[in-house]
Amino acid sequence: MAKVFFSSARIKKWKYTDSMPGKLELLLKQINLNNYFEKDEWVAVKTHLGSEGAHRIIRPIFLRKVVNVLKEVGAKPFITDTVRIKGLDYLEVANNNGINHLSAGVPVVLADGLYGNDNIMVPSGEILGEIAVASVIYDVPAMVVCSHIKGHIQAGYGGAIKNVAMGGISSSHRHCGWKCGRGAMHTIGEGTLIWDGEKCELCLQCQEICPLETIKFENELFSYNSDDCWRCGRCTRVCPSGALTIPGDDERFVRSLAEAAKAVLSTFKPNKVLYINFLTEIQPECDCMPCADVPVIQDQGILISDDIVAIEQATVDMLLKTRPLPQSAAEELQLEAYDILFSLTKKPYKLQIEEAERLGLGSRQYELIEI
Ligand code: SF4
Ligand code: SF4
Repeated sequence: MAKVFFSSARIKKWKYTDSMPGKLELLLKQINLNNYFEKDEWVAVKTHLGSEGAHRIIRPIFLRKVVNVLKEVGAKPFITDTVRIKGLDYLEVANNNGINHLSAGVPVVLADGLYGNDNIMVPSGEILGEIAVASVIYDVPAMVVCSHIKGHIQAGYGGAIKNVAMGGISSSHRHCGWKCGRGAMHTIGEGTLIWDGEKCELCLQCQEICPLETIKFENELFSYNSDDCWRCGRCTRVCPSGALTIPGDDERFVRSLAEAAKAVLSTFKPNKVLYINFLTEIQPECDCMPCADVPVIQDQGILISDDIVAIEQATVDMLLKTRPLPQSAAEELQLEAYDILFSLTKKPYKLQIEEAERLGLGSRQYELIEI
């Protein structure tokens, strides 16, 4: 049975060893890193570098701790993520969020290059066919996946599977554009935007948030280029009146995440990837949004495992025991049952984990070991 190590965010003693960074160090010591990483081996520490306004990412201190233990076993780590905006701008975002060579102690590298089109096409499965894995992640022999747990517009839940799937896939492809990159997952539901002029308040938030700047308003009429739109759903998420919707096949999209994760992980030999889930500052939306709302769920702690399915199942099981945080979007829903992320997004997020297990990425049976 897969082992999942856990340390709670609650502090019982006012000592460094009871702090979150101290507990992360203790957790990392439970795993014999020599079983996974070799001397002089390059190891990608995959995280999300955030956005200019979404500050609730994994804090640099935790990345530094991960880097330090990797250095102790003689490995050569670096921090990496795929680009979401222009590469140089994304590095500036990372720097502004405190993630840089100085804070992490190692370089910060863009996994799919400055232009987001360095990748290798890898077979994925029946939904996606093949997909563009970021070249750095394709080539690197080992990886530690550091995932900030949160909600998500389309996936409902963002954890290790989504971090590997969306985050390990390139932004676009040199020849077939964004449709071979992570846009392949976004478009899998094949929906097109529907605008309801009766409901539209002309607030223009949809136009402002579109990363492709494809939304236009002329004479108070909405238009966009469907060929350009990668169906990221941001515009519908920020629409305050329900005027903008994007009907799609949520189940197919969520299952495609597991498929893309499989494609990314197929580029590693067995026992070369570790997963660390940070159940902290659990906000309702993805770290790529332009801002981060207050957390909807109290900090739970940190989980580590070498089984992506087990750690995701353990994370979700933990979240299902939580209560909505006061003064948050979750409290506003006046929930009767406590699947907070489902109540917020109405997305079948658990399918990510079930599908990942079906595809052979791991087991939903796990032993939780609290440190
Ligand atoms: S779905 Fe995304 S890419 Fe398409 S119009 Fe909306 S914000 Fe832009
Ligand atoms: S966000 Fe919604 S309400 Fe605002 S302009 Fe766009 S469609 Fe209209």
